[in-house]
Amino acid sequence: MKFTKRQIERYSRQIILKKIGVIGQKKLLKSSVLIVGAGGLGSPIAIYLTALGVGKIGIIDKDNVEISNLSRQIIFSTNDLKKNKSSIAINKLRKINPGIQFKSFNKKLTKKNINQIAKTYDLIVDGSDNFRTRFLINDYCLQNKKILVSGAISKFDGQVYTFNFSKKKSPCLRCFIPNMPVNPDIDNCEYEGILGTLGGIVGTIQANEVIKEILGIGDTLCGYVLIIDGLKLTFRKVKLNKRSDCYCNEKKG
Ligand SMILES: [Zn+2]
Repeated sequence: MKFTKRQIERYSRQIILKKIGVIGQKKLLKSSVLIVGAGGLGSPIAIYLTALGVGKIGIIDKDNVEISNLSRQIIFSTNDLKKNKSSIAINKLRKINPGIQFKSFNKKLTKKNINQIAKTYDLIVDGSDNFRTRFLINDYCLQNKKILVSGAISKFDGQVYTFNFSKKKSPCLRCFIPNMPVNPDIDNCEYEGILGTLGGIVGTIQANEVIKEILGIGDTLCGYVLIIDGLKLTFRKVKLNKRSDCYCNEKKG
């Protein structure tokens, strides 16, 4: 793969970084990421991964844009109301960076379709809004030894997890949350509220984790959970141990 002059210019501020360089930028362009949910988290995740040159990006979301989304789902505009989120998001992303290969999935991620949809992606970013989907992605990535960067937001708070299941020691989401909550399909933002900026803070940290995992640079959050309190403005990195009686141990024998 040879860079064009335009690509060198576009990515010049990253290529100049010693830890990235031409080799790192090529790695990004050859990588593929599936973003689950084009919402408050998915918006900044998709915008950054597109702009900085992740070569292949898939977005899955079955919902249409609603007016109550617009306070935090910054990829959408008022004239996008009632249109499908994943297709609209990709139209906008193409304008940011036409050199990226995009695919939109206008459907809900389920046990039945996750294999087919996720198999061609190296890494999954979870920006979904409910526990059923979060657990489904966790279990899929665990079984297929894929990297998962997961985020959650509610009210003024956020959490970020990175699970690199190619590493034996990696815990999983179930190590931290052993049982599916009572109402796993509920979108907490709808019932508890959410300050729009939390999506930007958490989503941008997720995108940053994705890049570090692809490039193998820095220390990722694998083995920790980052707990963000947006009101006190504290970021706590808490060790997340693999639970000996967790599902992830059974799966790996
Ligand atoms: Zn586990």
